[in-house]
Amino acid sequence: MTVHEHTRTEAGPDTSRCECCGHQAKPADLYVRAVPDSSRAHPTDPTQDGVRIACACSPQHADELVEQGRQEWVDEQLWTAKARRAAERWSQSRLTISHFARLAGLTPEQLDRALRWQASTDREAHPSG
Ligand SMILES: [Zn+2]
Repeated sequence: MTVHEHTRTEAGPDTSRCECCGHQAKPADLYVRAVPDSSRAHPTDPTQDGVRIACACSPQHADELVEQGRQEWVDEQLWTAKARRAAERWSQSRLTISHFARLAGLTPEQLDRALRWQASTDREAHPSG
Protein backbone atom coordinates (compact mmCIF):
# COMPACT_ATOMS: atom_id res chain seq x y z
CA MET A 1 0.00 0.00 0.00
CA THR A 2 1.33 3.41 -0.88
CA VAL A 3 0.37 6.81 0.44
CA HIS A 4 0.61 8.30 -3.01
CA GLU A 5 -2.20 6.24 -4.48
CA HIS A 6 -4.32 8.83 -6.26
CA THR A 7 -5.95 6.76 -8.93
CA ARG A 8 -8.87 4.46 -8.37
CA THR A 9 -9.70 1.60 -10.68
CA GLU A 10 -13.30 0.51 -10.81
CA ALA A 11 -12.64 -2.92 -12.26
CA GLY A 12 -10.20 -5.44 -10.89
CA PRO A 13 -6.47 -4.91 -11.19
CA ASP A 14 -6.15 -6.97 -14.38
CA THR A 15 -9.03 -5.59 -16.42
CA SER A 16 -10.26 -2.18 -17.36
CA ARG A 17 -13.48 -1.08 -18.95
CA CYS A 18 -14.11 0.73 -22.19
CA GLU A 19 -15.76 3.95 -21.05
CA CYS A 20 -17.79 4.06 -24.22
CA CYS A 21 -19.46 0.63 -24.29
CA GLY A 22 -18.40 -0.91 -20.97
CA HIS A 23 -16.52 -3.75 -22.64
CA GLN A 24 -13.92 -5.23 -20.28
CA ALA A 25 -10.44 -5.89 -21.57
CA LYS A 26 -6.88 -6.15 -20.39
CA PRO A 27 -5.22 -2.74 -20.10
CA ALA A 28 -2.78 -3.75 -22.85
CA ASP A 29 -5.70 -4.22 -25.26
CA LEU A 30 -7.28 -0.86 -24.51
CA TYR A 31 -6.72 2.41 -26.32
CA VAL A 32 -5.79 5.17 -23.94
CA ARG A 33 -6.73 8.66 -25.01
CA ALA A 34 -6.64 12.12 -23.45
CA VAL A 35 -10.27 13.21 -23.44
CA PRO A 36 -11.55 16.77 -22.92
CA ASP A 37 -13.28 17.06 -19.55
CA SER A 38 -14.24 20.50 -18.33
CA SER A 39 -14.93 19.21 -14.81
CA ARG A 40 -11.27 18.29 -14.26
CA ALA A 41 -8.68 20.62 -12.88
CA HIS A 42 -5.34 18.93 -12.31
CA PRO A 43 -4.38 19.12 -8.59
CA THR A 44 -1.07 20.87 -9.28
CA ASP A 45 -0.44 21.36 -13.00
CA PRO A 46 -2.65 23.94 -14.76
CA THR A 47 -1.36 22.82 -18.16
CA GLN A 48 -3.19 19.53 -17.61
CA ASP A 49 -6.51 21.11 -16.74
CA GLY A 50 -9.58 20.03 -18.64
CA VAL A 51 -8.17 16.67 -19.64
CA ARG A 52 -8.67 13.20 -18.32
CA ILE A 53 -7.29 9.88 -19.45
CA ALA A 54 -9.91 7.51 -20.79
CA CYS A 55 -9.74 3.89 -21.91
CA ALA A 56 -11.59 2.51 -24.91
CA CYS A 57 -11.79 -0.89 -26.55
CA SER A 58 -11.22 0.46 -30.07
CA PRO A 59 -9.93 3.61 -31.77
CA GLN A 60 -13.53 4.34 -32.84
CA HIS A 61 -14.74 4.29 -29.24
CA ALA A 62 -11.76 6.42 -28.18
CA ASP A 63 -12.84 8.96 -30.82
CA GLU A 64 -16.41 8.83 -29.52
CA LEU A 65 -15.20 9.57 -25.99
CA VAL A 66 -13.24 12.57 -27.27
CA GLU A 67 -16.29 13.77 -29.21
CA GLN A 68 -18.53 13.30 -26.17
CA GLY A 69 -16.10 15.29 -24.03
CA ARG A 70 -16.15 18.12 -26.58
CA GLN A 71 -19.95 18.19 -26.70
CA GLU A 72 -20.32 18.24 -22.92
CA TRP A 73 -17.60 20.86 -22.48
CA VAL A 74 -18.60 23.91 -20.39
CA ASP A 75 -16.03 26.71 -20.08
CA GLU A 76 -17.53 27.89 -16.79
CA GLN A 77 -17.22 24.41 -15.33
CA LEU A 78 -13.47 24.35 -15.95
CA TRP A 79 -13.10 27.88 -14.55
CA THR A 80 -15.00 26.76 -11.45
CA ALA A 81 -12.63 23.82 -11.04
CA LYS A 82 -9.63 26.15 -11.36
CA ALA A 83 -11.13 28.55 -8.83
CA ARG A 84 -11.80 25.70 -6.41
CA ARG A 85 -8.19 24.54 -6.68
CA ALA A 86 -6.91 28.07 -5.98
CA ALA A 87 -9.33 28.47 -3.07
CA GLU A 88 -7.97 25.30 -1.47
CA ARG A 89 -4.38 26.25 -2.09
CA TRP A 90 -4.63 29.80 -0.81
CA SER A 91 -7.37 29.26 1.76
CA GLN A 92 -5.37 31.07 4.46
CA SER A 93 -4.75 34.16 2.36
CA ARG A 94 -6.81 37.31 2.15
CA LEU A 95 -7.05 38.12 -1.52
CA THR A 96 -8.82 40.59 -3.71
CA ILE A 97 -11.02 39.15 -6.44
CA SER A 98 -8.57 40.13 -9.15
CA HIS A 99 -5.59 38.71 -7.26
CA PHE A 100 -7.48 35.49 -6.61
CA ALA A 101 -8.49 35.26 -10.27
CA ARG A 102 -4.86 35.64 -11.31
CA LEU A 103 -3.78 32.87 -8.92
CA ALA A 104 -6.51 30.67 -10.36
CA GLY A 105 -5.31 31.40 -13.89
CA LEU A 106 -8.50 33.25 -14.79
CA THR A 107 -9.52 36.75 -15.71
CA PRO A 108 -11.84 38.47 -13.20
CA GLU A 109 -14.61 38.14 -15.78
CA GLN A 110 -14.05 34.39 -16.10
CA LEU A 111 -14.09 34.07 -12.32
CA ASP A 112 -17.33 36.04 -12.17
CA ARG A 113 -18.94 33.84 -14.82
CA ALA A 114 -17.69 30.70 -13.04
CA LEU A 115 -19.22 31.81 -9.74
CA ARG A 116 -22.54 32.59 -11.41
CA TRP A 117 -22.47 29.28 -13.28
CA GLN A 118 -21.83 27.46 -10.02
CA ALA A 119 -24.68 29.30 -8.30
CA SER A 120 -27.07 28.37 -11.11
CA THR A 121 -26.09 24.69 -11.07
CA ASP A 122 -26.48 24.65 -7.28
CA ARG A 123 -30.03 25.92 -7.72
CA GLU A 124 -30.72 23.14 -10.25
CA ALA A 125 -29.41 20.56 -7.80
CA HIS A 126 -31.55 21.87 -4.95
CA PRO A 127 -34.61 23.41 -6.64
CA SER A 128 -36.77 24.01 -3.57
CA GLY A 129 -33.90 25.77 -1.76
ZN1 LIG B 1 -15.95 0.16 -26.46
